[in-house]
Amino acid sequence: MKIVLLGPPGAGKGTQAKSISNRYSIPHISTGDIFRKNISENTPLGIEAKKYIDNGQLVPDEVTIDMVKDRLQHDDCKNGYLLDGFPRTVHQAEALQEFLQGRGENLDTALLIEVPMDFILERMTGRRVCPSCGASYHVKFNPTKIQGKCDVCGSDVIQRKDDGEETVKERLDVYQRQTQPLIDFYKDKNQLSVVDGTKAINEVFESICSLLGSDN
Ligand code: ADP
Ligand code: ADP
Ligand code: ZN
Repeated sequence: MKIVLLGPPGAGKGTQAKSISNRYSIPHISTGDIFRKNISENTPLGIEAKKYIDNGQLVPDEVTIDMVKDRLQHDDCKNGYLLDGFPRTVHQAEALQEFLQGRGENLDTALLIEVPMDFILERMTGRRVCPSCGASYHVKFNPTKIQGKCDVCGSDVIQRKDDGEETVKERLDVYQRQTQPLIDFYKDKNQLSVVDGTKAINEVFESICSLLGSDN
């Protein structure tokens, strides 16, 4: 199964991706996570990406597309994958489509987690993440069991630097200008499915599972 997750920053893509990845045994490929790992390891890719991420801008398409194409050729992607945070521009979506067509493959669906803008600021500014395992929490909606400690691995959770209010506003603006057009891109191809992302985390997951069905 090959799935693209769409939705504004803070919609719950990362949160749902972890569960979908477990349920359907496909790797969760988050471009944001790959960039952050490169930043923490100070690689040339990380140094380049950080300039954009810290300002709420998108990393340039060429860099991002090459990185994803490379990742999708790893062995663990043979039976499918779940893309979270990619594509984010029409150009990226076209590149993905060409990549798939070149291999005689198809996307199963682009799954939009629909959340109105007025929910987003609170979700993003309350987000806390685990820098070790990537788990995502929320101070109000999905708190850690022990305050400040990741449920999965026990590391101290942190607030992402780009989740401060000013950068969040910039990211939402970037989303509306550059990423939102992808909804029509996939709708026109009859590949779009939509779930209501305003429900509780487990309810959103149930809607996703009933949409995707039991195959894998
Ligand atoms: P969120 O979880 O809020 O949707 P991500 O973790 O997906 O955010 O992305 C964080 C940042 O990484 C983005 O603001 C952007 O700077 C960069 N980034 C992630 N994915 C892409 C992409 N596909 N194209 C360009 N930049 C990206
Ligand atoms: P994205 O990857 O789309 O940027 P995340 O999965 O990181 O989004 O979720 C953003 C924030 O909102 C996190 O703090 C997360 O715990 C919280 N969250 C995710 N889904 C829901 C939900 N259905 N209801 C309330 N809060 C949620
Ligand atoms: Zn952790």
